[in-house]
Amino acid sequence: MSAHANYRIEHDDLRVVILRDVGPWDKHLTITNDAEWVVAQVIPTLRGRTLFYYDSEGGLDQLVVKFNRFFRFSACQAEPTEDDMQAWEDKGGAEATDGCWVEPDGECEHHHLSWLIVKGLI
Ligand SMILES: [Zn+2]
Repeated sequence: MSAHANYRIEHDDLRVVILRDVGPWDKHLTITNDAEWVVAQVIPTLRGRTLFYYDSEGGLDQLVVKFNRFFRFSACQAEPTEDDMQAWEDKGGAEATDGCWVEPDGECEHHHLSWLIVKGLI
């Protein structure tokens, strides 16, 4: 039987908390497989911020929280490069984590934040 997920806080600011799954996964569950428990641990300090995690393969996913519980996963698009973000700035907007075009400090109609927020750049 595996122990609960082993994670560290990768990023923590006004609007976003990002966890990183650190394993080792022969001893610990992945965050993906232990999401209810992980969200329960984080909830006391989350205070309405948006929660993400780097999964065991290094991909960024959102842990959607509803009524202070894990609700569902939401995969992010591939992370933007510096060049991508520079190009967005030149156009006066940004992509949200699901690929929608939004205000630099905005979120889309599907409640996905601008990458600039997730990256702590705004
Ligand atoms: Zn969207």
